[in-house]
Amino acid sequence: MKCLTCDTLCFSIICKTCQKNFLCPSFHKREISKDFYNYSFYAFSDIEDLILSKYYFHGDRVFNLLAKLSFAKFSKNFNYDENIIAIAIDDHTRHEFSHTAILAKHLKSKIIKPKYNICKARNIVKYAGKDQEFRKNNPRNFEINDISNQNVILCDDLITTGSTILEAKATLEKKNNKILFSLTLADAKL
Ligand SMILES: [Zn+2]
Repeated sequence: MKCLTCDTLCFSIICKTCQKNFLCPSFHKREISKDFYNYSFYAFSDIEDLILSKYYFHGDRVFNLLAKLSFAKFSKNFNYDENIIAIAIDDHTRHEFSHTAILAKHLKSKIIKPKYNICKARNIVKYAGKDQEFRKNNPRNFEINDISNQNVILCDDLITTGSTILEAKATLEKKNNKILFSLTLADAKL
């Protein structure tokens, strides 16, 4: 196949050279509410085309590669005294894969266990291009299945205002879960 970025023939969806040149993750920390942080690996503007692949069939290969380069590496180096559940925010399936579930899957380790279909939006509203007020007036209204008294890492592809993550956090906290932090592939403010 051809590399998505440079058109060279290769075995991966993005060639090794492009992976090294453009997809080397760097770690960014953003406080989204008091003492609660989101960590991300890329600037949205740098990988926008790749993130938008979630709307297409080839997106599962793109997200598996990005998750391997970022979430899986993070997980390898992350230690904690207790067990943790990784929850993908709104992991509904589109084109036979869920891009957020792929991210959570790559966090799997001795202490982190991904769980799926936990946090689903009842309100499927598109936030892209909308301001904070629109987001506030149109909450996702998350439905939380079957999880309580757990340490949780929230996973999503992109953080913009942080309102989706905070809403998911608040909903999970009602069932006595402790949200340690959130992890996103990209940050729109970088
Ligand atoms: Zn390439």
